[in-house]
Amino acid sequence: MPTAPAAFLRFLALLIFAALPVAVQAQSCDGTLPPPGPDGRVAGHFPYGDASAQDIVPAPAGFGLKPYCKVHHAMLADLQRLLDAARADPAVGGELRGLSCHREVARQRNVFCRDRSMSAAERAISVAPAGYSEHATGYAIDFAVRPARGCPDAEACMAASPAARWLIANARRFGFEMSFPAGNRQRVKWEPWHWRWVGTGPGEPGATQARAVFAKARAQFPADPGIRDPLKVVVKSQPPVPMVPVAAPPAPVRKKGRRR
Ligand SMILES: [Zn+2]
Repeated sequence: MPTAPAAFLRFLALLIFAALPVAVQAQSCDGTLPPPGPDGRVAGHFPYGDASAQDIVPAPAGFGLKPYCKVHHAMLADLQRLLDAARADPAVGGELRGLSCHREVARQRNVFCRDRSMSAAERAISVAPAGYSEHATGYAIDFAVRPARGCPDAEACMAASPAARWLIANARRFGFEMSFPAGNRQRVKWEPWHWRWVGTGPGEPGATQARAVFAKARAQFPADPGIRDPLKVVVKSQPPVPMVPVAAPPAPVRKKGRRR
């Protein structure tokens, strides 16, 4: 039977554990990740929580290379339009497929911790730690783009594949942008296969929510190709022009006694 102080301490420990930020969970593999920076990033990656389960739906049939490819429902119509356009364009060089879609924070942890041959900091260059992946939001997709055989530079060769080139030229028309372009200042590895959905315009259903999720990332490290909304010129009412009162001219003086 625990004493009252012991029970309280246990309760306190449970409370602290439950309140641990995602950042600490991300370090659970080997504890060598740097602490979050002032903008919340860890190893370049912004924090992202899990999407609501009811927002996640199966991707269009036949899209995912794996059977459980799921995405945020808001992107579904645009993704279907993109796939239809890709299917109709011989430049794609085959069917456009999805390698990785929505990944819950828990699954991201498995992905991040898979390769223990490298330190967590080294792994974070190419894989986001759990709680820091755009895939948790349901708005991100890794398209299956294969490099040519014998390619010495995987990213460059993937970007040069017909499917990736088609995406680079066309994905924006369907509301997708490349989150991590080559040489990005975010210091996340170039991922020409990774595209996030933000909608073709702010008026598209669900786009406002998606843009809110990625607001920090988009403001600090714009995607390329990225979706830029045209600048709106707002003309506010003109300030009143100060009027100097003009003195009325003196009334004409009539001379008395002269009538015509
Ligand atoms: Zn990805």
